[in-house]
Amino acid sequence: MPGYTYTDLYDPLRLRELFEVFRTSLRETDAVVSERYERYLKSRGADLTLVEISEVIVDTAPHVAAFIVELFQVRDEHGRMRRAVEDESVVFVFKREFVVRRALKRFRTTTEVDAEGVRAAVDALMRSPLGAPYASLDTERAMASFVVGLMNLDRGLRAATVIDGTLADDARAVVDALRDASSTNATLATRIPAVESVDESASVANALLELLDEWVAVEHYSPSVQTRDWVSLKLPHTLDYANLVELRTVAGFPAGAFMGPPETYRNRDGFALTDARYDHRHVLDEVHYCIFCHERDKDSCSKGLLDKEALPKRNPLGIVLEGCPLDEKISEMHVLKARGDGLAALAVITIDNPLCAGTGHRICNDCMKACIYQKQEPVNIPQAETGVLTEILAYPFGFEIYAFLTRWNPLNVGCPYPR
Ligand code: SF4
Repeated sequence: MPGYTYTDLYDPLRLRELFEVFRTSLRETDAVVSERYERYLKSRGADLTLVEISEVIVDTAPHVAAFIVELFQVRDEHGRMRRAVEDESVVFVFKREFVVRRALKRFRTTTEVDAEGVRAAVDALMRSPLGAPYASLDTERAMASFVVGLMNLDRGLRAATVIDGTLADDARAVVDALRDASSTNATLATRIPAVESVDESASVANALLELLDEWVAVEHYSPSVQTRDWVSLKLPHTLDYANLVELRTVAGFPAGAFMGPPETYRNRDGFALTDARYDHRHVLDEVHYCIFCHERDKDSCSKGLLDKEALPKRNPLGIVLEGCPLDEKISEMHVLKARGDGLAALAVITIDNPLCAGTGHRICNDCMKACIYQKQEPVNIPQAETGVLTEILAYPFGFEIYAFLTRWNPLNVGCPYPR
């Protein structure tokens, strides 16, 4: 940024001036948010409800991120990360609209399904011209894109009174590709109706989606090597507080000896960390699983899970559910990450938890224990937090940006710069 050098970012007076530059820039770019922010800054939230405080933080955070992007000249990287989130969105549309709301509702088991036939048919489909547009994507995103595209086509065909234009072109491409694919696969040949005209193509799209319902059920209940790690096919499991950790008896040992499942072992080799961090898609899966409870002042992960007397409840193991000991604004962080602004999300984390590099998924999970999901797996907040931080650390000047936020953060209205 013109007029600022790197050493200025460690000078309290220059940081104070920079804060004034931010306020002016916010006023010029978004007068409405600026007015709400100035009110929050002045009162420190004393005249606002908790929901209003969350709203002003969520609305101001992208402006803080944009200001820092200009300060450190990381426009390209920030744009890339935004696009990476947008690109992944199809996976979560597929999961929500097709896997959860359709396929797994239809199939509670796969006993009636010809698993091998269905797998071979879907494999043939993805190798046909229908799968070609997605060939450069990883297999999960390719399948998600294919199914979401087919759902849109199906919706369009069912709503149309006349099939013409792009809709007719898309329908014809499916009918033609299927004619070829069906000649090499017996399941496709018997399951998909042979039609000659696009006017009948709705039956083809519907039959394809029904086949894909079965495929999703097969891969969900008996994952193959290819789909084992797909977030789109994984659903949160029910919590059994008496068996939170899976135990197995040990052959040849006296009763009472237990072992964990060998596939979960993490072998210690040297001093390196033994657990892998979540990749970007898994982080986004947690973020999409969150239902952003701050919008209703119900974010128990942060504020604690309270009873009618506003006292923290206990879970079936007697653990007091007080939520994050730092009151980190977790739900607000999630909503910003889900919108593709990881830097705004990190700015929110650092309000209450500037030392997040020392917390995250290896330290504490009080937030998870108090998550609103008490009967099923909670949101894995520490992994999401670690994911947000590591995403920014990978930017050029990533460490400097994170360290800067610990000293200068307009969202931290109690102390936006060192005094
Ligand atoms: S992490 Fe859990 S409690 Fe917190 S906002 Fe998300 S769903 Fe709600």
